[in-house]
Amino acid sequence: MTQYLGIDIGASGFKYGIGSSKLGLQHFALKRNFDRSIEGFRKVVSDILAESAHHELSGICIGSPGTITYPEGKIVGRNPNLPFFTDIKPADLVPDGMNIPVCVDNDANLMALAEACLKDCRVCVGITIGSGIGCGIVHRRNIYHGARGFAGEAGHIIVYPDGLLCTCGQKGCMEAYSSVDGIRRRLHEVHSPYAGLDLPNLIASRQRYDEIDKFITEGEQVLIRGLANLCSVLNPDLLILGGGAMDLALYNIKNVEDGIKKLIPPAHAQCFRCVHASYGNRAGVMGGIILCERLNYRNKNCIT
Ligand SMILES: [Zn+2]
Repeated sequence: MTQYLGIDIGASGFKYGIGSSKLGLQHFALKRNFDRSIEGFRKVVSDILAESAHHELSGICIGSPGTITYPEGKIVGRNPNLPFFTDIKPADLVPDGMNIPVCVDNDANLMALAEACLKDCRVCVGITIGSGIGCGIVHRRNIYHGARGFAGEAGHIIVYPDGLLCTCGQKGCMEAYSSVDGIRRRLHEVHSPYAGLDLPNLIASRQRYDEIDKFITEGEQVLIRGLANLCSVLNPDLLILGGGAMDLALYNIKNVEDGIKKLIPPAHAQCFRCVHASYGNRAGVMGGIILCERLNYRNKNCIT
């Protein structure tokens, strides 16, 4: 039976799994302890491949945060959560001589692809909310990359001209207000004693402390505004909200859906829905497996 290996690189670890769209995910695991360096990453990929050696793999997909050029599959620019992991082709983490085709894509693109393939939709926008904001656009079950791979940078939609400084260097981006790090930075700026709380405690403390509630509420409102603008351009019938912060219900999905519907044309609002991600933290791995199945492999640097 044909199977594929999906590897999802994140700041907290490498998730990986083996399967196919027919079989689903047959195996899923996480590696957390390794050097945060290119050499450390190479070693983890080698270990995962060694563990998977008894499977007959027909392809490997590596998902990564960051801006990945299309079609070369190279990470460019700042990669805030993995600062050393830029100006590199993630496919090169796979040792030479493996003789297995490798593809690469952005982690949010892969999340959106996996979720879109589960659901009945034509245009799916997948949003991941965590330390940053990721976005993937899927049209008729194909990832939309834009001309050079930079499509879907929804976190950097500017919601306030000359607003808060974002990690991308611009001011007023949605990510500066609505991401978890953005909320923490705002608490830090007002010298809040709660800026250092982890996310579950931050959410749990919201009802007791007005300043936390204020920034989370504003984060949700900014998210609604930014996503409504995105929806006006793309006319999606499905918006998926996922990522660690949505798993913990940082924002209320009904509020987000209702808020967006008030800001987009009524005819569009009628065919639009907003739902939670179904695959949870396995979406990137599953999306990679689905992507592998679709590619006409030519060389290990290929990207969709
Ligand atoms: Zn930005």
